[in-house]
Amino acid sequence: RAKHNGKNNYQFYDANMNVHTIERLAFEAQLRRALENNEFVVHYQPKVSVQTGKVVGAEALVRWQHPENGLIYPTEFIALAEEAGLVGKLGMQVLDKVCSTIANLHAAKKVFGRIAINLSGAQFNDEFLLHELQKVIDYWEISPTDIEFEITESMVMNNHEQAIAHMDGLKSAGYTLSIDDFGTGYSSLAYLKRFPVNSLKIDKSFIKDMPADANDTAIVLAIIAMAKTLGLKVVAEGVENKVQLETLFKSQCDEYQGFYYSKAVPEAAFIELLELQ
Ligand code: C2E
Ligand code: MG
Ligand code: MG
Ligand code: MG
Repeated sequence: RAKHNGKNNYQFYDANMNVHTIERLAFEAQLRRALENNEFVVHYQPKVSVQTGKVVGAEALVRWQHPENGLIYPTEFIALAEEAGLVGKLGMQVLDKVCSTIANLHAAKKVFGRIAINLSGAQFNDEFLLHELQKVIDYWEISPTDIEFEITESMVMNNHEQAIAHMDGLKSAGYTLSIDDFGTGYSSLAYLKRFPVNSLKIDKSFIKDMPADANDTAIVLAIIAMAKTLGLKVVAEGVENKVQLETLFKSQCDEYQGFYYSKAVPEAAFIELLELQ
């Protein structure tokens, strides 16, 4: 290759590779430092009952409080943490913080349902996951029934039987499961029926242009109808306005999340929000 392209080209290509490698290694080093320095924070977005308007749960969403660059969102670092093999460690820090929040909610006698945590593929497939979870649960003296795990279709589509076994393990231990970003993956309905999940979360891309976009609206209504048929709860994500909420109300959607009610907020603000309702 070097000979064919000529010496200069080869060196140019090589130099580019080095820039990427250096950037990547620098980012990895920053991630490692961030894990050591406790720079990750968890914010909570309320899950709201469509019919009553009450907060019935929350989703934990990780953010990186970077000392120089401010608050960084997970879309900027989760994939890289996964590639660097750091997402398991990050996931355990998130779990620990969520459990501490649940313990605080218990102490404040706030009873409101579960907190949902996003699981990465690496965590979901980790044979030690249940054992690691148990340690954290015991430390904070809370129960698996306080926690829900959100998994995506892509995580369960490669190896159905193994995924079902992992889901059964979590369910038997008392955790609740939901399928996140539903509609963007390749779930076959036949398998969906066999998944021990409690709810489906409709991906926000379908909610975005509803009700103006007739196709998206039809998809949302079909997912809700199907979920009901399968005995699953259905949650809409990314609800930003009143007309979207009204459409969901009419179609008997169970719960929603979105900026219309609240974005994800720090623990103290979340507890305050519970007090106000
Ligand atoms: P997700 O689990 O589907 O979370 C929903 C995302 O939609 C969140 O983005 C949330 O802030 C955003 N969102 C909520 N309401 C609205 C709305 O009304 N409009 C719009 N446009 N967006 C809304 P965020 O926090 O940036 O998280 C992005 C993704 O990162 C999450 O998608 C999830 O896949 C992943 N993630 C977040 N926290 C964790 C974590 O602790 N562990 C792992 N493995 N992944 C995480
Ligand atoms: Mg989620
Ligand atoms: Mg989602
Ligand atoms: Mg999403």
